[in-house]
Amino acid sequence: MYLSLYRRYRPQTFQDVTGQNTAVEVVRRAVSRGNVGHAYLFSGPRGCGKTTVARLFAKAVNCSDRGKGGEPCNVCDSCRSISEGNSLDVVEIDGASNNRVDEIRDLKTHVGLASFSSPYKVYIVDEVHMLSIGAFNALLKTLEEPPESVLFILATTEPFKVPVTIRSRCQHIPFHSIGLEDMVSRLRYVTELEKVKCDDDSLWEIARQADGGLRDGLSLLEQAMAVQDDGVDLSVVERLVGGGSHGELCRWLDGFHERGEMGTLKDLEGMFLRGASVERVLDGLYVIFRNLWIASRWGEKGIDALGLSPWESRFLTRTVGRWNEPFLRDMMELTSSLMPQGRRGLRQDVLIGILMTRLVPSETPSSIKSPTVEPPNEEPVSAKPAPVSVPASDGEDPPLWSRFGDIPHIVSALAFCAISRSDDEMEVVVSPERVFCFELLSGERNAYIMQSVLNEDGWEGRVVFRCGDRERVYEPLSAPSSQELPLEVDREDQRETVKEVKSTDVSKTEDIEVPDGDDGLLRALQVVRSQTSGEVLYLRKDEEIEKEDEIDGD
Ligand SMILES: [Zn+2]
Repeated sequence: MYLSLYRRYRPQTFQDVTGQNTAVEVVRRAVSRGNVGHAYLFSGPRGCGKTTVARLFAKAVNCSDRGKGGEPCNVCDSCRSISEGNSLDVVEIDGASNNRVDEIRDLKTHVGLASFSSPYKVYIVDEVHMLSIGAFNALLKTLEEPPESVLFILATTEPFKVPVTIRSRCQHIPFHSIGLEDMVSRLRYVTELEKVKCDDDSLWEIARQADGGLRDGLSLLEQAMAVQDDGVDLSVVERLVGGGSHGELCRWLDGFHERGEMGTLKDLEGMFLRGASVERVLDGLYVIFRNLWIASRWGEKGIDALGLSPWESRFLTRTVGRWNEPFLRDMMELTSSLMPQGRRGLRQDVLIGILMTRLVPSETPSSIKSPTVEPPNEEPVSAKPAPVSVPASDGEDPPLWSRFGDIPHIVSALAFCAISRSDDEMEVVVSPERVFCFELLSGERNAYIMQSVLNEDGWEGRVVFRCGDRERVYEPLSAPSSQELPLEVDREDQRETVKEVKSTDVSKTEDIEVPDGDDGLLRALQVVRSQTSGEVLYLRKDEEIEKEDEIDGD
């Protein structure tokens, strides 16, 4: 029978467990000193070794020939039957699939019976947080008056979902994500025993993708081993992982200085096409900027302290001189501030726009000129280049863009625009090469944000965005609506529908009759979609949700 790598290399002794020294030490001491409690709660991320240690615990308490430090012998009848999974005294229950009260009641009856041949009867309940309330109550009764010689080991990835009444009756042992170096050395150990050629860079990439879970790491390694007969290399791993791997992001940043802006823009789009997610790119870039920042601040010592692959250490040493510290700190702040938006579905093209505007060194586009450009100040050139994008002067004091200082993506995009403002109109001109800035700024939501901010200063004019022959116009927020809106909206949210007008093709929007009911709503949404570039949010009233909940509850 074929066994997966994870099962084949499941540790058979405490000493063999990777990266969980503290948790393992607590368990070993309990066993070797003979003061084993009735119930333990193992918590920690998935695939980090909770069930493995639980089984070793079960083996150790029942072993008839325990070694030094509470290690099971793996030879006696009890150890062997547990290893083979046919011990009658060690019961594994999956909380996710056995969460009904009846099953836990069966357990209660079962618990009352004496053990067959071992000192302890051990119940390992995996994913215990998935049990229903009824099942928890039944379990609680058992934990309150546990029969002699019964050991409960509850394992969970989400300890805060386990009722406090249960938690308080258990010894809680937290497990942690497995560190990169520990993970890499375990993966290397497995490849050596499997006699598979696998370079360090591949192992590091696998370890990063596994995100602290050895089970995920070994399963990715196994897939990579299956792709090629003659060993595993980085290109295979990156193909399996999809776009946005750590190595790819490092090379992408590197490329800014070698491949030029258009090349890097294409590369980033390519990563998304190959399956990178916004979250993965943000997480990955944050880690790289943090490492660069540490390298920039503390040099070689900092790099050593990070514990990185030889390739990445070389990457940091080679490229750190291109960045300055404040810029790296800015980028850490930017990427971390975007992470919540990434989880809520930040669009890929918006992220591309934000990153490109921040990373591309700013210069005033030659094809357009702001009407009020001031002569550039002659400043001494600093030793390190400062690629931070700061918008050009817009003739106001303080400069107009500084009003949006706490909205990083707007300031970043404005860096490539010529802005001018009169009493009743603000004009934002974007160079045609920076069409992503135009898309970003002139989207309805961002235009609304800009208008609202300026309204707070008492300025209420229309805003015009131009890029080549494209133009988007937003009337003042207070302007009366020129068209009957098809949806009932709050007075505050009501604003004029915005049309995108191309100077070569001015299409007239037709009047569309909107029927009532669900069809009407869908039709109305289509009308809104056809006339704006914004997103449509569907707001429901609280009573409506309550009503649906009642129906669901029945
Ligand atoms: Zn044994």
